[in-house]
Amino acid sequence: MDVRFVSRLQQVTVLGATGSVGLSTLDVIARHPDRYQVFALTGFTRLSELLALCVRHTPRFAVVPQEAAARGLQDDLRAAGLATRVLVGEEGLCQVSADAEVDTVVAAIVGAAGLRPTLAAVDAGKKILLANKEALVMSGALFMQAVRKSGAVLLPLDSEHNAIFQCMPGDFARGLSQVGVRRILLTASGGPFRQTPLAELEHVSPDQACAHPNWSMGRKISVDSASMMNKGLELIEACWLFDARPDQVEVVIHPQSVIHSLVDYVDGSVLAQLGNPDMRTPIANALAWPERIDSGVAPLDLFAIARLDFQAPDEQRFPCLRLAKEAAQAGNSAPAMLNAANEVAVAAFLERRIRFPQIASIIEDVLSIEPVVAVNDLDAVFEADTQARALARDWLSRNAR
Ligand code: NAD
Ligand code: MG
Repeated sequence: MDVRFVSRLQQVTVLGATGSVGLSTLDVIARHPDRYQVFALTGFTRLSELLALCVRHTPRFAVVPQEAAARGLQDDLRAAGLATRVLVGEEGLCQVSADAEVDTVVAAIVGAAGLRPTLAAVDAGKKILLANKEALVMSGALFMQAVRKSGAVLLPLDSEHNAIFQCMPGDFARGLSQVGVRRILLTASGGPFRQTPLAELEHVSPDQACAHPNWSMGRKISVDSASMMNKGLELIEACWLFDARPDQVEVVIHPQSVIHSLVDYVDGSVLAQLGNPDMRTPIANALAWPERIDSGVAPLDLFAIARLDFQAPDEQRFPCLRLAKEAAQAGNSAPAMLNAANEVAVAAFLERRIRFPQIASIIEDVLSIEPVVAVNDLDAVFEADTQARALARDWLSRNAR
């Protein structure tokens, strides 16, 4: 008799479904209706797009920030003949992350707002596909402790960390030195201002900062890429994900964004992961891990790429990278403060209240004023975050145009 094993559809919650990573995730999911079913979609703005996504993917739940928006969306969903239930706010986000029926949570909310919902998924022992690097940067030790406690499976979506994950041996959790890893080489494109004359950085606009040469992303991470704070946050992220010391992670500028990162072993072997710069590759990798599925990404054409370049980062040009390294060394509340000050500064830059180089000035000032303290619980993390935001806003009220 032909006995076939029919596996259950994986139920997936996408936090931040209306964003760049959220949409790429839904593109991959839609290619594999035999494997994945959307359980919940969440949005914050662009709620008409959330409605369209609900019509396309028929989730059990949708989550929006406020009651009024929820009522509007609920009516529209009903009119479209859908049974999707609309939940509200952080409580709703945590509920769809921890629901007993959910297998996988894609953490693709931007910024500190993603921390509690992502931790709810961690505490519930889910498979978590982490794009929301800010959550891990803010609360690294507590986050990783919670992962170990619940047995959650944490898989990186950030392209660099997904690349590192693919180049690591399966048992890397034993410790990098135990598995013969010398260091991690974290690649960075250098962003749109890699070669801009330093004096011109005073005058660059938000749109110029968001015009990334290789990747199409949300505006906050695009500005982070232009300042290289993104790479700083990623260095901290890599330390937590792979239990590395900051000095074991080296940032390498690689303008083509074809090598997504590398792992350097003690025997001199260096393993790299390559691919077109398209988030659907790391998303498909993490969704199906340890299997492989089609992502819709075109095969890499090495003849068209022809060459791969590398250079050391210039910390004078990119002071945010230095500030992030210092925060990584200081540990404790420093990364949460760095992240919070950066979020306020980037928002102010996008609103044209400050100039691009002032992003680093704000962060540097906040970090020099606020003392680094131990963070033994989540309250302490949010306390550091709140303090840093207040100091950054003070700076703005004194100096912004
Ligand atoms: P985005 O701005 O395109 O999308 C952000 C999503 O978060 C949206 O769905 C938005 O509605 C939601 N959101 C925003 N503020 C919220 C709040 N206060 N509460 C609840 N939801 C909120 O951003 P993105 O580019 O998709 O990035 C998302 C995360 O993934 C970021 O942490 C980013 O650093 C990380 N990441 C992105 C990429 C990329 O290619 N875009 C690559 C690697 C990592
Ligand atoms: Mg990245």
